[in-house]
Amino acid sequence: MLRVGLTGGIGSGKSTVAARLAGHGALVVDADRVAREVVEPGTPGLAAVVAEFGADVAPGGVLDRGRLAGIVFADAAARQRLNGIVHPLVGARTAELIAAAPEDAVVVHDVPLLVENAMGALYHLVLVVDAPVDTRVSRLVTRGLTETDARARIAAQATECARRAVADVWLDNGGAPDDLLAEVDALWTDRLVPYEENIRLRKHTDRGAPVLVDHDPTWTTLAERMLARLRLAVGDRAVRVDHVGSTSVPGLAAKDVLDFQVVVPALDDSLDEPLAAAGFPRLPGFDEDAPHPPGGAPTPKRTHASADPARWANVHVRAADSPFTRYTLLFPAWLRADEAARAEYEAVKRGLTADGFDSIPEYGLAKEPWFDQAIPRADAWAASTGWTTG
Ligand code: ADP
Repeated sequence: MLRVGLTGGIGSGKSTVAARLAGHGALVVDADRVAREVVEPGTPGLAAVVAEFGADVAPGGVLDRGRLAGIVFADAAARQRLNGIVHPLVGARTAELIAAAPEDAVVVHDVPLLVENAMGALYHLVLVVDAPVDTRVSRLVTRGLTETDARARIAAQATECARRAVADVWLDNGGAPDDLLAEVDALWTDRLVPYEENIRLRKHTDRGAPVLVDHDPTWTTLAERMLARLRLAVGDRAVRVDHVGSTSVPGLAAKDVLDFQVVVPALDDSLDEPLAAAGFPRLPGFDEDAPHPPGGAPTPKRTHASADPARWANVHVRAADSPFTRYTLLFPAWLRADEAARAEYEAVKRGLTADGFDSIPEYGLAKEPWFDQAIPRADAWAASTGWTTG
């Protein structure tokens, strides 16, 4: 099962996208509809609301939304009491609907307040639909809102900047409806369907060898989103989870592959399932770190990789007492601090790429001699600056 979060400001075209995805076979769970359902006439939800706010909010046993809104709009404590009743019911009903979905479902959770409620980590992928404010206002006016109302509602929602930080996929609906639908169709076929299959079958899409590219500033926000998902997946079974590797060093050229390190008290297979379900199935055959310097015994580890066909990412699971755990944190810290070392490492990487290594393991091995001489330098830097893993 693939869990997709879908959001967008009012008038952006979110419902249009949800309907198209449903047409392709996605199971759409509409957060607004669930929120209405749990306070329908005769429900325990409505009874709880009446017990809290009085029979006046439900004349004839039907919730008067306007009256309830009047009470909670002006009173933050009352709003909190209402949320305390409704949120758990919505959460339970949503979980029930998702649990009932077939194993191979692409579940799309349509949530207007996904960004405002910081829900991004709950999904394998977050889609954000957006259009320029003036375009949205004119669409809403066509739908019957006054321009003042439309602008007020838009102003009360998350900003474009906040939405961009959460978006794995940004669907621009500033143009013709057909352009948006074509984008959704391609997303369904090229990404959502294979991503779902990869998660269900615990496999990865082979995308050939990635190439070295200049540092991409969007790696940082992407890593934040993936970190939140990984942390949620491993919970307190891990000591810490970090974005590591070259993509975590601003200014350093890197392959477009994000690396993460999950540190566990003791290495075993207990993270296999939670990481696979979160979209990071185990990558067989990468179960040890090669000794530095060569000649010693290898150190066991586990490697997982993203099942997303459009995003390459590796997750290295290491024991807290593995020497590689510390070096994996130390290296990017040193390279972030030492511009000359960073330039030197980048030159080594560019040289090896020019040599035409076409597999990642081969390329990794070729970098080992540079690492062997760099480790004492990184250690010296740590000693002189007082750096610790923190
Ligand atoms: P939301 O669910 O985000 O509020 P909707 O999908 O309901 O947005 O779209 C808002 C309005 O704009 C609807 O009346 C819809 O038919 C219309 N609409 C959506 N996309 C476009 C578009 N690209 N061009 C013109 N009108 C659009």
